[in-house]
Amino acid sequence: MIPRFRPWLDWEELSTLFSRNKGCVEKFEKEFASKFQAAEAVAFPYGRSAQWAFFKTIGLENAEVIMPAYTCSVVAHAVILSGNVPRFIDIDLADFNMNLDLVEEAIDERTRVIIATHTFGYPQDIHRLETIVKDAENKYGHKVWLMQDCCHAFGAEWKGKMVGTSGDVAVYAFNVSKIITSVFGGMLTFQDKGIAEKVRRWRDRNFQTPKWSKTWKRRIYLLAFYFAFHPRLYGITYWLKTKTPVLRSLTDAYHLDDKIHFPPDANERMNDMEAAVGLRQLKKYDRIVENRRKNALFYQENLERRNGWVFPPIRLGATYSHYVVRVPEREKTIKHYASIGQEIGKLIQYCIPDMRSYYDGKKYPNASRTSRETINFTVTKENINTLI
Ligand SMILES: *Cc1c(COP(=O)(O)O)cnc(C)c1O
Repeated sequence: MIPRFRPWLDWEELSTLFSRNKGCVEKFEKEFASKFQAAEAVAFPYGRSAQWAFFKTIGLENAEVIMPAYTCSVVAHAVILSGNVPRFIDIDLADFNMNLDLVEEAIDERTRVIIATHTFGYPQDIHRLETIVKDAENKYGHKVWLMQDCCHAFGAEWKGKMVGTSGDVAVYAFNVSKIITSVFGGMLTFQDKGIAEKVRRWRDRNFQTPKWSKTWKRRIYLLAFYFAFHPRLYGITYWLKTKTPVLRSLTDAYHLDDKIHFPPDANERMNDMEAAVGLRQLKKYDRIVENRRKNALFYQENLERRNGWVFPPIRLGATYSHYVVRVPEREKTIKHYASIGQEIGKLIQYCIPDMRSYYDGKKYPNASRTSRETINFTVTKENINTLI
């Protein structure tokens, strides 16, 4: 069974289990900032805790945060748990990104933050976003923060400019399904050293040093990820996942339980071993993305165009966190591919304001439709030429 995604883990990452890794968090922050053209980077245990910590640091309270209706639900959790209110915006069917015309219409005097997500690695128009923010600031006479969510789009480019290098802050995440992984983990990057320093100090005061239990759990996760996704062993993982409840807490409960909460270790800092894995992954970043681009192109040219299938765009500068096709009969399609040995994902299979805990009575037709129709093919390490 070919997995729907696979972290690119080799012996170099595993070897962090046996090394001291001292000082790796600071080193990871420095190298990450330099790789993605930021002045500073600050590490966190998860992407969501990074977003939460940013809202806390700037003292945001009871404010409106504009964000896409179609994105990872944990982003909305970070907004709510920081004491603020998400305002959802429908997406464009063309590239899954938040519709910027609707953003312009939605901004009002309560809007203090705009979260712009480069969904599935498709860069948003960052120049237009900057103009929208400036106009809003002039109109309402207060700061409007621009946060770019680059969790799918490490190093993606809009017209030659790297995403995340404009606006006030960019967020990245490193769980095992992301472009590069540090087991778990998140990062904020900044162009303004002053704000970065404030966030760092806030983190150091409010996040705990990793407990002994976390250190051990992370080691076990790394080992488990390495073996679970190994091509020879993935058949077993798949069986455990689909036929038994053994892995359920890792797969489903992650963000599909429709409850607004963070994991219990969300405010224990990233540990040095995770950062050491991240550092090694950072070195592979160029190869990883090149491979994803090649695989996306391969699908575009070779995947059979079945009735009703809508293919994703191929865009200059996109990083293809997922290769996403919209299909009319999703479950049937998934079953078909499973029968020929390929696991298909259906990320992201919800529109946040359609979920019970976020229901707001409004309609988000494109986000709802996309959430029901998407399947995604692996773009990771496999030699996908054998699949079609
Ligand atoms: C993964 C992800 C996050 C945050 O992830 P964590 O699981 O909290 O590390 C945020 N936004 C998007 C779009 C993501 O895909």
